[in-house]
Amino acid sequence: MIGSFTFENLPCRVVFGSGTLAAARVEVERLGGTRALVLTTPQQEAQGKSLGTALGPLYAGIFPGATMHTPIEVTERALAAMKACEADCVVALGGGSTTGLGKALALRTGINQLCIPTTYAGSEMTPIVGQTDNGLKTTVRDAAILPETVIYDVDLTLTLPASMAATSGINAIAHAVEALYARDTNPVTSLMAEEGIRALARALPAIAAKSDDREARTEALYGAWLCGVCLGTVGMALHHKLCHTLGGTFDLPHAETHTIVLPHALAYNAPDVPDAMTRISRAIGAADASQGLYDLAKRLGAKLALREVGMPESGIDKAADLAVTNAYWNPRPLDRNAIRDLIARAWAGEPPGTIKAAA
Ligand code: NAD
Repeated sequence: MIGSFTFENLPCRVVFGSGTLAAARVEVERLGGTRALVLTTPQQEAQGKSLGTALGPLYAGIFPGATMHTPIEVTERALAAMKACEADCVVALGGGSTTGLGKALALRTGINQLCIPTTYAGSEMTPIVGQTDNGLKTTVRDAAILPETVIYDVDLTLTLPASMAATSGINAIAHAVEALYARDTNPVTSLMAEEGIRALARALPAIAAKSDDREARTEALYGAWLCGVCLGTVGMALHHKLCHTLGGTFDLPHAETHTIVLPHALAYNAPDVPDAMTRISRAIGAADASQGLYDLAKRLGAKLALREVGMPESGIDKAADLAVTNAYWNPRPLDRNAIRDLIARAWAGEPPGTIKAAA
């Protein structure tokens, strides 16, 4: 049954396909840009420079210093680079870290962004940026942060190693999973969520089997886009809160942490979200959604335990305490002991538990 809902479509132009990078110059012009600063990580600098060549007279320079968690000092250096080359728009080429830097610049200057994502993180579809100042990560939501134009070029994702494709893809699935039981969920976002999960659950094993499977890479990027829209459109809950806390407190890798925590966070919420469980099970083709996501990660060869990515066992209690402070909305009320149990399972790499709803 369809109840009352509010749906807000975020304004963003999307160009999707193979070879679409070639449209970058036209898309910069379309934004009214005349001097574009290209942003990359140090690892993707060469790719950024060839994009600069393709931009021709619109290329103002490159800032190849993007890094995880968008540290304020990196943003300040990029701002100085922007001023030095008199850039009037930015082109962010890379994963969520590079996208984050473009967003941090747009937040401060209102500059237009052309974003060219090369992972499945989904950040390009959200008006949100997480920034780090002295090791403390805070999140800002502002309309100015949303990139104006996004070019998805499947060709650029072919170099994403299969292991990163797996965890980045499950990171994307996590956005759609929580969208299905979001407080402000709506039928349109749920359509995208289910389709995004289905596309990624089908594509990721094919990529694991054959890294250059172009059809699977295309389907994965399509799914990642849909999941990114979910993240930008509705609010997230326990899973994202837990990953944010764990990542920030123990300096854990972003996509791997999402991959490990997701089956457990979903199992926690399962008793209170039967419709979402049905849709996720259907999308991944498994009898149980949480177990199915655990099995998917295992099949993809992803790490299944937080202890394997650097979390100390002594951190379990601390993480449980942090997860229940700063109350936030979740479909199932936050129960410290049950959350501790789920973190302990995720730490050890056990399958997700069956957690019964409180009577
Ligand atoms: P990343 O951007 O940190 O990239 C990881 C590494 O992979 C980098 O060295 C990058 O250069 C390299 N890389 C990227 N694409 C590649 C490709 N196609 N081939 C080879 N190497 C490639 O990783 P990520 O997981 O995309 O992003 C994580 C960051 O994004 C985190 O800081 C997270 O908080 C943020 N994020 C933000 C949002 C949001 O809405 N604000 C959403 C999702 C993620």
